[in-house]
Amino acid sequence: MKMTETQFNKIKAQIKKLTSKECFYKHKLEGINPDKIQSQEDFEKLPFTWKGDLREAYPLGLMAVPEEEIVRIHSSSGTTGTPVIIPYTQKDVNDWAAMFSRCYQMAGITSHDRIHITPGYGLWTAGIGFQLGAEKLGAMTIPMGPGNTDKQLKMMMDMQSTVLCATSSYALLLAEEIAKRGIGDKIKLKKGVIGSERWGDKMRKRIAQELGVQLYDIYGLTEVYGPGIGISCDHECGVHYWDDFVYCEIVDPKTGEVLPDGEIGELVITTLEKEGAPLIRYRTHDLTRMIPGDCPCGSKYPRIDTILGRTDDMIKVKGVNIFPSQIEEMLSSIENASSEYQVMIDHLNGKDILTLFVEAVPGCDKKQLEKNLITNFKLKIGITIKAMPVEIGDLPRSEKKSTRIFDNRY
Ligand code: ZN
Repeated sequence: MKMTETQFNKIKAQIKKLTSKECFYKHKLEGINPDKIQSQEDFEKLPFTWKGDLREAYPLGLMAVPEEEIVRIHSSSGTTGTPVIIPYTQKDVNDWAAMFSRCYQMAGITSHDRIHITPGYGLWTAGIGFQLGAEKLGAMTIPMGPGNTDKQLKMMMDMQSTVLCATSSYALLLAEEIAKRGIGDKIKLKKGVIGSERWGDKMRKRIAQELGVQLYDIYGLTEVYGPGIGISCDHECGVHYWDDFVYCEIVDPKTGEVLPDGEIGELVITTLEKEGAPLIRYRTHDLTRMIPGDCPCGSKYPRIDTILGRTDDMIKVKGVNIFPSQIEEMLSSIENASSEYQVMIDHLNGKDILTLFVEAVPGCDKKQLEKNLITNFKLKIGITIKAMPVEIGDLPRSEKKSTRIFDNRY
């Protein structure tokens, strides 16, 4: 993707500013003369910023403005060790709301909508981002937060919510519950804004069908504002991102080399407007690609593909690299296999064994499904596996991110 002149100028001005005062990037970019950055190629030689760097800056080492300008902090979910703290100025908060409101608009949501928000509020950036964007849009928000399915459904019916904001697994849980209770005709949802998780086509179709809504993928990460830096459009062909706020690159996860448009690699983000904690070449660990060409919707905002997985989800089994999205794609083509699956990898008697658990459509021939799974995995992904069809509901659902791959080899 060619960097525009505006983007280049914003980035250069930011680097100049950051290297001229005591802050995280003064040290990170030590020895680099900002005046020597004359082109996109020069920019692409700058060092990456890693999540580990941000962790080391805990608690407030990322703060790039005087403390009195900081109005809020958020923290990324630190599943392992020290979390990352991101400070926001008022402008950062306003910019985030503006981007999020643009996401709703891209999804055709207006001030006449009633937006039911189930992601969590608090240190995590999710709920509050959905809220700010909806308020800026002028829609009525229903700030539910996660959990308590009975209450969720009651409010959804009583308030006649038209938009559901949720993670894909929670949307699926609610969709299943609505079907089970037979209350579909009392639900007025028209659209679903689904974030913070990767999901396959089959799961998308199930949620859309059971809820009777059109779904939109929202993208973002706490380190870069939060959800809302991009969203899919009606044409469901990738995620438009706001290139006036973020500059995106796709790099080879192993070598760090910038890849041509269309090739799959790791998304790297540079912020263009952020004040509290600007980021330069931040490695997101999300796997995607730039989608070349114009979108049929006519939007001029560029597109990345729906997130295909995490660089750390890439698993190597029997010498073959496997992405979760490949498994999802394979499942979507198999009769009687649902979208819910789990993978266990073990090492027994000197051999890797991959076991694929899949929820099967009730009443189907499980023996036949098992055979189909084994044959198709070998055919499409290239290794022989064990397959275990299970009942619908046997695999865990969660309100946060679902872990689908368990590597027990190390
Ligand atoms: Zn589009």
